[in-house]
Amino acid sequence: MPSFRPPAVGIDLGTTFSVVAHLDEHDRPQTLANAEGERLTPSAVLVEGNETIVGREALKALTSNAANVALCAKRELGASAFHKRLDGHDYPPEVIEALVLNKLWKDAKSQIGDFNQVVITVPAYFDEVRRKATQDAGYMAGLEVLDIINEPTAAAVAFGVAQGFLTRDGKPERAINLLVYDLGGGTFDVTVMRFERDQFTTLATDGDVRLGGYDWDQRLVDFVGSEFQRRYGQDPRMDETTASRLWRECEEAKRTLSFRSKAAVAMDYQGHHLRTDVTREAFEMMTSDLLDRTRFTVEQTLRTAGAAWSGIDRILLVGGSTRMPMVVRMLMDISQKAPDTSISADEAVAHGAALRAGILIAQGGHPLPFSIRNVNSHSLGVVGTDPATGRPRTGVLIPRNTHLPVTAKRTFQTQRANQKTILIEVVEGESASPGDCSLIGQCIARNLPPGLPAKTPIDVHFRYEENGRLKIAARLADGQRVLSHTLHRDNMMNQEQLDAWRRYIAESIA
Ligand code: AMP
Repeated sequence: MPSFRPPAVGIDLGTTFSVVAHLDEHDRPQTLANAEGERLTPSAVLVEGNETIVGREALKALTSNAANVALCAKRELGASAFHKRLDGHDYPPEVIEALVLNKLWKDAKSQIGDFNQVVITVPAYFDEVRRKATQDAGYMAGLEVLDIINEPTAAAVAFGVAQGFLTRDGKPERAINLLVYDLGGGTFDVTVMRFERDQFTTLATDGDVRLGGYDWDQRLVDFVGSEFQRRYGQDPRMDETTASRLWRECEEAKRTLSFRSKAAVAMDYQGHHLRTDVTREAFEMMTSDLLDRTRFTVEQTLRTAGAAWSGIDRILLVGGSTRMPMVVRMLMDISQKAPDTSISADEAVAHGAALRAGILIAQGGHPLPFSIRNVNSHSLGVVGTDPATGRPRTGVLIPRNTHLPVTAKRTFQTQRANQKTILIEVVEGESASPGDCSLIGQCIARNLPPGLPAKTPIDVHFRYEENGRLKIAARLADGQRVLSHTLHRDNMMNQEQLDAWRRYIAESIA
């Protein structure tokens, strides 16, 4: 009797589009189409009365009911203040992501049968708070998140497998260095990886969580909007529904400009009509600073990895925005190499995630024949005091681009005799000033044993897991007693809230 093999499913939860893939019976990744028959599902959510709609139909509603459509929630993950108001109710960004995941899950189940374990990808540059928010979104959707992996790593894994570098019996003949340039809808990442025998090692990674195709769209929106205003004295960007329609027109025009030298944007507003022609040259000029930002990051990351272009064997392009000819031209200019386009820029990430799920589930008892080594994309630190100035200062414990998993220890001291708790503020970021870093949370070591003298040392161990999530443990310096501790996060939902949303999504989304 064949043994039951749980499906290995990977989800690329994108800013603008999401993709689901699974491993077929030959362990080959295959994209799963959604209920509408599309391989890419728009990460858009519409709430209208009792109805919650995700995907293409939600995107379509932008032209009639833009106020109740949530887009690009991924950009807001981890931001405590951001709540999207849809049909009179507030939705935190991770809940909007959960609604997207829930649809992807349901549509996938209708094709490959029941499952609830998945691997979800995140930009390599996502900090710990955004990774936790992504995991929470999976939980609220009703899923069990086996792992969170970096998008460029996933793409490189998919590339390795597709190219036959990695098969059950095949291993690469020599080490290969890859540079993955990932420009999606809302985020940008660049990663230098080494691909050796059965191991993928990330050497360095950097990026920008608020730079993507959406910013290119906005430049066109501003161009056409200003032109409209100049001609007719009215600004179509001021009305939400008209602005959404203008954005959709501009996004279409941007895509056209990847294949043609000219595109037209038509706009109707307040009884006026404008048709504007945009040339590729003009578009490239109005967005050149955005491209420059990515070039700067590429060069910087290469230096951090200790590599030169001569040592990079392949440049992989990931993300829909890499179809813009200016991206390819810029990369050819600085590297003197033609980027590799053998993998699907849209689907590679989900395919890599499915392969990762395959490793974890160890399909049919045979684990896939490679492992993945990652780095942390932000330095981890604690808030201390500068003895010279008395001002708060970041004490770095784990510098960025350190291989994971990694553990660091910092010894703190009680200040008073009989102190019961110790409070440690944990931050991520590169600034010496904690205010410029992102606060992961406050670690509170509680229940210190009674009668401790002042200045009793307490060791706090920080462990970054391979997926970039953080674990903290506190011990008395004699190493004997483990103290109870919690990582308190102001910017995150607590377990009760997560459970309430999970129930809500399970019960109310048909
Ligand atoms: P992703 O998040 O990887 O799915 O990328 C989505 C982004 O790619 C969106 O900003 C799209 O507008 C953009 N995109 C998709 N196709 C093209 C194209 N042909 N030319 C330019 N941008 C594109």
